[in-house]
Amino acid sequence: MSHLGPRGHPVRLMQVLFCFCVLACVGVAADYGKVTMSKIAAGVYLFTTSRYGDVGFGGNSVAILTDDGVVMFDTSGTPASAKAILSEVRKLTDKPVIYVINSHWHWDHWGGNQVFKAAYPSVQFLSHEKNRDLMMSVAVAWNAPGLAKDLPDYVKYQKEQLTAAEEKHTSETELAKKRELLAADENFLEQKRSVTYTFPNATFSESATLYLGAREIRVLHARTITPGDTYVYLPKEKILITGDILVSPIPFAVGGSYPQEWIETLQKLNKLEIETIIPGHGEAEHNKSYLQRNLALFQHVLNDVKEAKASGLSVDQAKRALINKAAEYAADLALSEAQIPEFKSYFLEVFVNRAYHELDNPLGDNPIS
Ligand SMILES: [Zn+2]
Repeated sequence: MSHLGPRGHPVRLMQVLFCFCVLACVGVAADYGKVTMSKIAAGVYLFTTSRYGDVGFGGNSVAILTDDGVVMFDTSGTPASAKAILSEVRKLTDKPVIYVINSHWHWDHWGGNQVFKAAYPSVQFLSHEKNRDLMMSVAVAWNAPGLAKDLPDYVKYQKEQLTAAEEKHTSETELAKKRELLAADENFLEQKRSVTYTFPNATFSESATLYLGAREIRVLHARTITPGDTYVYLPKEKILITGDILVSPIPFAVGGSYPQEWIETLQKLNKLEIETIIPGHGEAEHNKSYLQRNLALFQHVLNDVKEAKASGLSVDQAKRALINKAAEYAADLALSEAQIPEFKSYFLEVFVNRAYHELDNPLGDNPIS
């Protein structure tokens, strides 16, 4: 694997959990897996879960309150964070959660499903039909080795690092940070092990619209980061909830991605009347600027892939050539130099590879192909 953990420790978690990243900053324990709520509009609330340690992205979940009950969009990555979200939702309304919409099959968006099922046994889990298939097959298969080996191995490695640091008489401040991080990673592993896969029990092919009280909730499909990407648009409130079609501040293409349709989707979204965009990760935006920057970036990279291929470069040569232009592409999103390594591994390397192959043949549903 090309992804290395701290001090060169090789890990496969990137493949398995989609989330491995080593943080330059190490927060305090209280910040790991912490849920923060913000009001987006009347009856629409965003719940942001912070990173679970250094082995798991946090992300966004949304509650849409209606006269008939609550619609949740994504349930976070773990049962614990989902419980924290649900307890906040219960303070907002005494109506039940009647729908949970899952945006795509990556673990960090539906690991909390079971919490809503336990609290509301008749809740409908709605997602695109391909998501259901991928959740039941690929998601389960990809998570298994991570849970059985990769994540426990990583926690063990962290423990060894802590012991070594203790023996070296590292400062108490540094030791405290390492202990906090280890505790967070151990807790994350425990949470991941406590997941009972809870799959959609309602699917759609093209689109579905929920009419609940005065709300109109359009549930839509795109093929962008995964084959079954499910997103939501509230036409009256002009709120777009994208799942990982948009990830801020760095787009995320790992685990598949369909560059040409991603661009077409962003072009389509750009035409919608929008007051607020809630991405899959990162802060809500109150204009289209981030969407448009993503669109410009994707087109920029795709054009260069086309040129590279037309000039006779192989996929590996094209990748090398274009990765060298990472700083130029990162400027399309106004990223800092410090963000470029993540920009390369989360987005550019995968996007270039997929875009190149897509020029030859349509990409299939298997994210590994
Ligand atoms: Zn995600």
